[in-house]
Amino acid sequence: MKNIKTIGILTSGGDAPGMNAAIRAVVRTAIYHSCEVVGVKYGFFGLLNNLFIPLQSHSVSQKISTGGTFLKSTRCPQFLQPEARAIAYENIRNQGIDALIVVGGNGSFRGADTICKEMGIPVVGIPGTIDNDIYGTDCTIGFDTAVNTAVRAVDKLRDTADSHNMVFFVEVMGRDAGFIALNTSISSGAEATLIPEIPTTIDQLCNYLEMERRANKTSGIIIVAEGGEHGGAAEIATQVKKRLPQYETRVTTLGHIQRGGAPTANDRILGGLLGHDAVVALINGEKGVMVGRRNDQTVYTSFEEACSRHCEINKRMVEIAYILSL
Ligand code: ADP
Repeated sequence: MKNIKTIGILTSGGDAPGMNAAIRAVVRTAIYHSCEVVGVKYGFFGLLNNLFIPLQSHSVSQKISTGGTFLKSTRCPQFLQPEARAIAYENIRNQGIDALIVVGGNGSFRGADTICKEMGIPVVGIPGTIDNDIYGTDCTIGFDTAVNTAVRAVDKLRDTADSHNMVFFVEVMGRDAGFIALNTSISSGAEATLIPEIPTTIDQLCNYLEMERRANKTSGIIIVAEGGEHGGAAEIATQVKKRLPQYETRVTTLGHIQRGGAPTANDRILGGLLGHDAVVALINGEKGVMVGRRNDQTVYTSFEEACSRHCEINKRMVEIAYILSL
């Protein structure tokens, strides 16, 4: 058992609903174990610029139901420079911070790894990103809320698509991962899903749409993951319209609404469990690892492994999404 008296916590990279639930869990668990907690505002930028605030139990009251991160987040390119990191280390030491918890995505874990290795400060990561593209956990904090937000939006678009016999191309977030797209597609009963993990040609998509028309489907929802091989939903819609000019097509990009809003119960629970387990991991002497949940168990994955290994899409779910859309 390490002698950790003060734990710092920061959120970094893109915000995700449920990050506040995780911060709350870290604060309350640390206090339970007689540790002090220091919040770092604006992620790694805050480490460089001494943006520290003490966090007590009441500091995290009324936060569990809110989206975003009340500690705020920003990208901090300076942190890639060793000279800048040296300043951050000084600041961490001067604050009396013995260990750090970083909530964020792969980029944030690379930054966390440098803190651990270069300075020997124990750091534990919590996966927080709506994209669900982090190796070492079944779900990242924010993913469930983002999918639910997207599904509610698609349900609304479906009304118009159906009333006017239209085909909607709906672009969802996910950087280079199709997790949000696939889960949104299955949950909203979409006709097709375009994700980076499964290449689909425009001809295949058009043939599929034609087949569905022959099966008396008069409207359609195509879920498109951003950043795919054909460009975004607008580009794909243009190419489809060229081949099938008789189709009424529309494009909707859901954008940042997927990142905001009150976290779902699942994300609050995940934030609570991972926040709690991150503190316990530090107290038990863990460092350089991300805490994740797999099959309802807490597991540790080294930052190196979490950052280097690819998160595979579930091919069976892709197949089932196809069968259910026929
Ligand atoms: P995410 O955590 O959501 O993947 P980013 O990729 O933007 O977000 O990374 C967040 C921050 O992590 C960056 O702005 C930078 O400060 C820090 N970071 C990313 N990669 C490194 C690295 N190789 N070394 C040090 N810090 C890094």
